Amino acid sequence: MRAIAITPGQPGARLVSRTEPAITAPDHVKVKVVRVGICGTDREEIVGGRAQAPTGQTELVIGHEMLGRVVEVGQEVTRVAVGDLAVFTVRRGCGECANCNMGRNDMCRTGRYTERGIHGQDGYQTEFVVDREVYVTRVVPELEPVGVLLEPLSIVEKAIDDALRCFALRDPEAAITPAWLAGRPCLVAGLGPVGLLAALVLRLRGAEVYGLDIVPDSDGRVQWLQEIGGKYWKGPLQKYPQLMDIVVDASGFAALEFNLIDALAPNAVYALTGIPGGDKALSIQGAALLRQLVLGNQVLLGSVNAARGHFQMAVDDLAAARRLWGAHAEKLITHRRTPEELIAAAGQRPQGVIKAVVEWSGTGGSQTP
Ligand code: BGC
Repeated sequence: MRAIAITPGQPGARLVSRTEPAITAPDHVKVKVVRVGICGTDREEIVGGRAQAPTGQTELVIGHEMLGRVVEVGQEVTRVAVGDLAVFTVRRGCGECANCNMGRNDMCRTGRYTERGIHGQDGYQTEFVVDREVYVTRVVPELEPVGVLLEPLSIVEKAIDDALRCFALRDPEAAITPAWLAGRPCLVAGLGPVGLLAALVLRLRGAEVYGLDIVPDSDGRVQWLQEIGGKYWKGPLQKYPQLMDIVVDASGFAALEFNLIDALAPNAVYALTGIPGGDKALSIQGAALLRQLVLGNQVLLGSVNAARGHFQMAVDDLAAARRLWGAHAEKLITHRRTPEELIAAAGQRPQGVIKAVVEWSGTGGSQTP
């Protein structure tokens, strides 16, 4: 079967031939890959950045945002059946710490985890994948056009759920008020797919959502945000429309991330999901910043990866979004590629792209610019 591989640390990707995986255990699930999303992490891997090949191999098959159709299951599998749409999670646990042993690989304590398509395990940019039932989530048929967004959505489900749990633990009003987030001001920084999906989750919960970016008002991402009732805000920083109860960073720009601390309301939670690149020194007013966090009872939390429960939340939210806004989420997928086209793009992000996907066996779509 065909797969897209890189050599970690070296620029470029290529088509390789791999043996089709087979079911070898009773809890195995085999899927035919439908389509796989491409994100900043994939582009970084393709240009020679952060990536690690499986032990004993020099190449890594990339891809971690997948949607597949189940073609075969081991005899003990009950969660999915042949013909179902399904997604696999990304991280595989270290097998040593309590969190991994409880299925919370996303909260691994040893750091000795692997990640499919990123860190030590081949990924999903290929034709067939076999993995264990504990890593699979069934996707309802009507989500076929958008199921490939479930992995990035799972990332924001975790970050926002963690933020809400902080509120429920620490803020008495939030703890006793159902739908507490309704009408509360929240800021999402960076209107890429992760930021827009964060806006979607917050809007589904009734929050007043401000999206921060530097693109023109006519940009498709701004329109997408506005169509779900979000407000576009271009700054200037320090002149925030309101102080925010939740800030989600999906920009990955370290300087901006520090600046946004000023946007926090008392007791607010700031969830960081962007992974800043580079190691440029930053000058910050350390004491003032820490003083504000302490005097404001504020929380800064980093959030990476997601557990299967977050994938289930993502399925539920995409279904809810479909009921409310029809095919709106589908508009995030702006570019559909063949494997060869992804390779030719050499890690470059085309103009106007929100989410690009590689079609492996999907029927594709109408919008292939
Ligand atoms: C993926 C996560 C992963 C993280 C760090 C992100 O692009 O979505 O699943 O944990 O990269 O490798």
